Parts: sequence; C-alpha cells; structure tokens
Amino acid sequence: MDLDAYRHNAERFITELMREYYRHYAGLKDSFEIEAIYAAHEGLFRRDAVHALRELDARSDGNGDERRRARMLLDFAVEGYVGEATKAVEEELARTEAALTIEVGHDRIGFREAPVVQANEADPDRRAAIERALLTATDEELGSHYRERIERQHACATELGWTSYADMCEHCKGIDLRALAGQTAAFAYDSAESYPRLLDPELRRTLGIGFDELRRADLPRFFRTAEQDRHFPAARLTESFVGTMVGLGIDVSGQDGVTFDIGSRPNKSPRAFCAPVRVPGEVYLVVAPVGGRDDYATLFHEGGHTEHTANVDPALPFEFRRLGDNSISETYAFLLQHLVEDPEWLARHLNVEDPSEVVTHAKAQRLVYLRRYAGKIAYELELHGAGAGGFTALAGRYSALLGAALQIKWPTETFLADVDEGFYCACYLRAWALETHLRSYLRDRFGPAWFESREAGEVLRGLWRDGQRLDAEELLGELTGARLDFGAVLADLGLTKPWTRH
Ligand SMILES: [Zn+2]
Repeated sequence: MDLDAYRHNAERFITELMREYYRHYAGLKDSFEIEAIYAAHEGLFRRDAVHALRELDARSDGNGDERRRARMLLDFAVEGYVGEATKAVEEELARTEAALTIEVGHDRIGFREAPVVQANEADPDRRAAIERALLTATDEELGSHYRERIERQHACATELGWTSYADMCEHCKGIDLRALAGQTAAFAYDSAESYPRLLDPELRRTLGIGFDELRRADLPRFFRTAEQDRHFPAARLTESFVGTMVGLGIDVSGQDGVTFDIGSRPNKSPRAFCAPVRVPGEVYLVVAPVGGRDDYATLFHEGGHTEHTANVDPALPFEFRRLGDNSISETYAFLLQHLVEDPEWLARHLNVEDPSEVVTHAKAQRLVYLRRYAGKIAYELELHGAGAGGFTALAGRYSALLGAALQIKWPTETFLADVDEGFYCACYLRAWALETHLRSYLRDRFGPAWFESREAGEVLRGLWRDGQRLDAEELLGELTGARLDFGAVLADLGLTKPWTRH
C-alpha cells in the first residue's frame, strides 16, 4: 500500500466532506451531497485497505509516533468501512425522521421539533404526553431502521475479523472501554447518595417538583432553564466570546484561517457549529445568535473546537492534525463551554451580580450528564459486546441501567436510538475528566480568572499546536504527571466520596 497516497486522499476526502457540511448547514447550499464524495474516494474504505492498515498497525509497536499514526489510520479506514455499510440506512432514518410528526392532544408536531416544544412546555402532564408520543414513534416508525443500523455495525466488525463491535472500537480507538466503564461505575456509586440531594432543590426552584416526582419527560425542561436566559442576552453573545479570546491573547477577528460566520441566512442551522475544512487554514465557526444560556454554551463549546483546530501546527502529519482521540478536542470545547457557568467569568463578561443560581444549576446538570453517560457506556458495552443477548433482553438492560444511573423510571423504546456511533460516549466521559484536570491546572497556575491571562493562552496554544497526537491519558501524563481520575470530577462538583464502600 502506498501510504503517502492513502494519507493524501484521506485528507482530501475529509476536506471535501467538511466543506459540503459547512455549506449545507450554514445555509449556503440546499442540497447535501455526500454520496458523490464517498464515491470519488471509495478506495479508502475497501476491505483490502482496512486489512493492509491492520497489518501496518500490528507491525508498529512501542510508544512512538509511527505506532500512533498507524492506529489512527486504521481507525479512519474502519470508520469509513462501517460508514459505507450504514450510509443507506442512515439516509433512510434521516428521511423518515424529517417527515415524521406526532400527535399530542389536538396538535400535530414535527418529530424533530418536538423535543424543543417539550423543553419549553410548562405543564408536566403535557411534557409527559409529548414524550410518550415521541417514544411510540421512535419504536414504531424508526425502530426497524435503528435495528438495521446496529446489525450492520456488528456485521462489519465480524467481516473485518473482530469478535465484536466493542472489541473493534476498543482496538482502533486505543481506549480501554471496560476500564473506563469501571471508573465511571465507581463515580456513579460515589455520587449516588448526593445526586438526589443536589438535584432536589434545583428541581423545586426551576420546575416546582421534588426529586421523588421527577420523570424523564421533565429533564429537557430542567436543562432548558429559560429563567436564566435574562443573564445571557443575544446582543452580547459574539462580543463575549471575542472578548474572552482577547483575554487569552487571541484576536479571533484577525485570526488567519478562521471565519466567524455570524450572518443570518434562511436555512442556516439554528445551533452553532464548527466546521474544520482544512486543519489548520480553513475553519468556520458558524453562529446564528438567538440568546439564552444554551446559545452561549453551544457557541463556547464550538469555539473551543474552532480554536483547537485553527491553532494546530501545519507541519504535523495528517493523522495528528485530523484524526486521533476526539476526547482531546472535546476537552478544549468543554473547557470554554464551562466558562459560561464560571462565577468569575459571569461577573466579568456578563456583569452577573449573583451567579449562584447559574452555578448551582450547571453543577446539577453536569451530574445528570455524567451519571447518564456512566449508564450509557455500561449499556453500550453490553449492546456491542460479544455476548450480547437478543434485542428484547437488551431493551430491558437499557432501561434498567439508565434507570439505575438516573434513579428514575427509564423507557425501553430508545434502546437502539440512544446509542453513539463508535463509542463516542467514551470521548465525552474522558473529556469531562480531562477538562476538570486541565481547568484546575490553569486555575492553580493563573488564578480563578485564568481566562484573562495571556500566559494561560500561551499554554493552551501550546497544547492546541499538537492536534490530537496524544490521547487523553498521555496528554494529562505529560501536562501534570497525573492519571485521569473521576474523583477529581466528584470534587469539582463539590461532592465527596461516601465514608465506606462495600
Ligand atoms: Zn464537541
């Protein structure tokens, strides 16, 4: 195999795909034509290419960059192979979902719009009715497509010679998924008692219900926190991001290769997103400001991805600029996202006099997410493991594991829909842990207003230059010598371990 040619074509493929993504979701182009891009590069994802890269990976040992690059290329080829095999069902899913509507009382609501309606609904019974209709539609209209997607993913793993999809992902991504699930299960155990205590007052304040009355249908509204929107005006959104970057010594508007797309267009995605077309050199941060806390959180999250990719060293090999452990980019995204719930930042950038409700709510929300993802990784390991039971048994396991994690009744219907491709849940979990370590490192070195220190900006730019060369464990090891520890996350949430563990 001509490796240099493979790398060159792989980079062109990603660039073309990202440019199409940007143009479609920024509202510059109606159609979304990825089929032709895949067709033009089909050689990248043929089975013989995967096998050749697997051999290369098996031959590379040690801890050097050559081994890292081989593993990343293998992961890229395997993801593409699975992508080719599931692309038709993905398109079918998207088509069906886009046309689907649900009936709630006398209203007909679009399936995709319904979660937003649910989050804005003040009446708990109507929230429950929307959720019931969504679950039924997921099961009856989309269930067979989701099932086909999972079956195809599993078939790909077998075709390529792995014992299960979980083993394939574990190998290609270089993440010990079972060890991570062990760490997050311990986190869930350690926070099990404080979790309802932390949530209860927040639920009473925002929804007027106690933890014992909480239903899953209430969670979108709990996360929405419309009452906090007054702190987060639309008019300050972009200037607060640009101003924060100035504090770190970064001039976003004059930054080479970064386009801050804030123009309004009819078909522009309402959610901010980052499209790294070329890394570095052509990165788009697309925003359509409407205001509110979510808008800020999303812009800062995507801004973290943008700054990371825009600052990557152009001399790095393709693999380190474009592939690697996504826990790394997610870490920088969460680092900036968490600023909009930081009391120091809220005071300095949005003049929030009493940030306590924003801070307390954000902690409760983070704990829900962490526990939900701890439940998800445990379930996804069962779903994608070699000894997976039949689909009926898995639906029960999904409901049991997620229900135990969140201590509320959890439905079965979404057991094949609520699944991230390629164990992306592991990237989020590792990013949450690494971000906590990185944030406390920055705070220790530069103080609580670290985001106003040019030196902190220098440290970040130094990390960003390295792309995703190191994985989350390696990066933390080089930065502080520590290992990823969910105990640090527990402490960051102001919680302590229970006295004894049985
Ligand atoms: Zn992200």
